[in-house]
Amino acid sequence: MLCVECGIREAKYDNLCEVCFRKKVKFTAMPQHMEVTICPHCGSVKFRGEWKKLSLEEALRGLIERNVDFLHDYDSYTFEFKYREDSEGYILDVTFHIKYRDLWIDEEHVSHVSIHYESCPRCNRYFGNYFEAILQLRGMREGESYEVLEYAHRRIEHYAVKNENLFVTKEEGKKEGWDIYLSDKREAKKIAKDICEKYGAALKESPQIAGRRDGRDMYRVTYSVRLPSYRAGDVLCIEGVYYLLERVNRSVLNLLSLKDARRKTVDTKKHMVEEVYPQHEFEEGLIVFSRDGNLQIMDSQYRVVETRSPFIFEDGQKIKFVRIKGEVYVLPCSS
Ligand SMILES: [Zn+2]
Ligand SMILES: [Zn+2]
Repeated sequence: MLCVECGIREAKYDNLCEVCFRKKVKFTAMPQHMEVTICPHCGSVKFRGEWKKLSLEEALRGLIERNVDFLHDYDSYTFEFKYREDSEGYILDVTFHIKYRDLWIDEEHVSHVSIHYESCPRCNRYFGNYFEAILQLRGMREGESYEVLEYAHRRIEHYAVKNENLFVTKEEGKKEGWDIYLSDKREAKKIAKDICEKYGAALKESPQIAGRRDGRDMYRVTYSVRLPSYRAGDVLCIEGVYYLLERVNRSVLNLLSLKDARRKTVDTKKHMVEEVYPQHEFEEGLIVFSRDGNLQIMDSQYRVVETRSPFIFEDGQKIKFVRIKGEVYVLPCSS
């Protein structure tokens, strides 16, 4: 059969020869004008009613995919594009490579893309000082705030990677600690729990009604994280026995007895910590005599005190000790 158009060459595609088919048939159409909505604050792009963090390149690619019309069936296609800025937006040059049966066909389009600016909901909230939760950090020791706050911020960043709606609205230093206002209460709880776990802290949760939306009460939650009075490295008294606190894991304390060097694990939910001697209050001393667990120590005032210890020391060794109710307890050397 011959081509219905030219009547010269053999018809191979839709009753047309290849030359006439390439001339007559269009596979793609693109609008001459397109629009993309971008948040002026964070650069997010509105995509089918949803806001996404995209690069300009990704946004334009998506725009092309959504706006191309196919006028003829095809086997597959790819496309590439270039863009340049003009006074009202961007000029897009798009080339489609279409595979149809044994043919490769290239089609080119030029489109103008105008940029429409709209503040995204996340930025609306952010600039409106929106918050759902207050994370209160309490019970920090002097010189410790920096480390605890840094850890809190690292956890916030960790969860913010997966949740764009998580951000810090504001922060406030207080006499009793530090307050962090957060935009998402569910994430705030995870962050509070992480801090509790790391420092063996207690979590108190107090919700407040903050108004109504769509007929439902809206809650704000205060998560108060109270660090315990002890830290690893301190000396504690539990049931009348003095221990070095070697490790804290949630409510579980790993202890080393300063009397007989025995190790013990205690759960603070079942046992009370009666006294705490923080490590920065330990005294320094020098071993002047040690034999069979009997020690003589010279303190910083050059006075010699005597005690017994289950740990092994050498004469002349520098050690740390704590005086409790007239008794001297020597810390093992690694601490
Ligand atoms: Zn023809
Ligand atoms: Zn935004």
